[in-house]
Amino acid sequence: MSYRIGSGIDFHKLQEGRSLFIGGINIPHHKGAVGHSDADVLLHALCDALLGALSLGDIGVHFPDTDASFKDIDSKILLQKTMEMITREGYEIVNVDSSLCLQAPKIKPYVHQMQEVIAGILKITTKDISIKATTTEELGFVGREEGVVAQASVLLRKMR
Ligand SMILES: [Zn+2]
Repeated sequence: MSYRIGSGIDFHKLQEGRSLFIGGINIPHHKGAVGHSDADVLLHALCDALLGALSLGDIGVHFPDTDASFKDIDSKILLQKTMEMITREGYEIVNVDSSLCLQAPKIKPYVHQMQEVIAGILKITTKDISIKATTTEELGFVGREEGVVAQASVLLRKMR
C-alpha cells in the first residue's frame, strides 16, 4: 500500500467591499479576500496540498493568474480539477487537516458547511476533513485584519 503526504499554504489580502469566500462558503463580512480567482484561501491551500502529495507542482502552474479563464473563477472548480488529477494518478484521499488564521470574523459557525462542500468535491466524509481556526492574538498583518492565511495537509492512498 502506497501512501503520500502533502501540505499547502496560501495567503490573501483582505479589502473592504469584497466578498469573503473561505472553504467554498460566502461568509458575510465587511472585508473580503483579493485575488485573481474568488481568492478562497482554504481551497487554494488544499489544492496545493493535493498537488504537493504527488509532486505535481502547485496551483500557480496549473491555474496561472495570467490566464483570463481563471479570472474570478469559483475555487471549487479548481479543487474539482485538482481532484480529477489525483484520481487520474490512481490515488484517493485518506484525510485532510487544515488551519485558518484570521482575526475576524469567527469561522466556527461555518465549519460544518465548509466540511460538507469539501467532502462533496473530494469524495470523502466530513469526518475526514478537519478545519481549525485561530487568530494571531492581534499580532501582525493577520491581527490588523489585512490578510488571511490557510494551511492544509492531506494524506493520499494508492487505490488497488
Ligand atoms: Zn490563493
